[in-house]
Amino acid sequence: MSPKDARKLMVRRLIESGIIKSAPVAKAMELVERHLFLPSNMKEHAYLDTPLQIGEGQTISAPHMVAMMAEGLDLKTGLRVLEVGGGSGYHAAVMAELVKPDGRVYSMERIPSLAESARQNLKTAGYEGIVEVIVGDGTRGLPDRAPFDRISIAAAAPYVPEPLKQQLAENGKMLIPVGGRYYQELTLVVRKGEKFIEKNLGGCVFVPLIGEFGYKD
Ligand code: SAH
Repeated sequence: MSPKDARKLMVRRLIESGIIKSAPVAKAMELVERHLFLPSNMKEHAYLDTPLQIGEGQTISAPHMVAMMAEGLDLKTGLRVLEVGGGSGYHAAVMAELVKPDGRVYSMERIPSLAESARQNLKTAGYEGIVEVIVGDGTRGLPDRAPFDRISIAAAAPYVPEPLKQQLAENGKMLIPVGGRYYQELTLVVRKGEKFIEKNLGGCVFVPLIGEFGYKD
């Protein structure tokens, strides 16, 4: 099966299982070539709905989690998005598909070698102008680019980092896995003035968010 057909099948399954609910998310998941974001020994598994090793003990998110987060964040053209935990760059590319041409994705990654390969992957996949990869501690956010309409956190946090709340725009939405190191609840945070309304979207498992406002190591 060609990568394109494999992606179509993957998207059809995600629609049938109710995870993909909207046409724009279906289209984005069908367009982004996940195999371009994987090391060569992992490419053959690109269209399995599972996380995969990308080096440095980190993983690319599973397609169903990327789709679920894209639906939950209600991404639209023109929005400015902060991603924490860029990893391979795959999740950032899916978000870029949804906010392009005028929107931007700022993707923070703490491990420099992963950030460098994410930049290369995003270039190969055609998202160079829409996604900017920044090396740094994403628990502090990116104050000089704030506020953000959406914040997507792809690593497990012990609590919602205060700097990220403060960098969320009015009516902005953040999705963050909050909980212990081995199991978390995917939490939607919506900003209304100085109030932050939280909603639990269900269980999930991410690698730890390590930083000043996260786990310490
Ligand atoms: N969304 C990615 C998957 C990321 S896995 C993808 O689609 O490939 C989580 C990533 O978060 C790891 O690469 C890890 O290094 C990174 N990370 C953990 N803590 C971080 C922090 N404080 N700031 C930035 N990145 C962090």
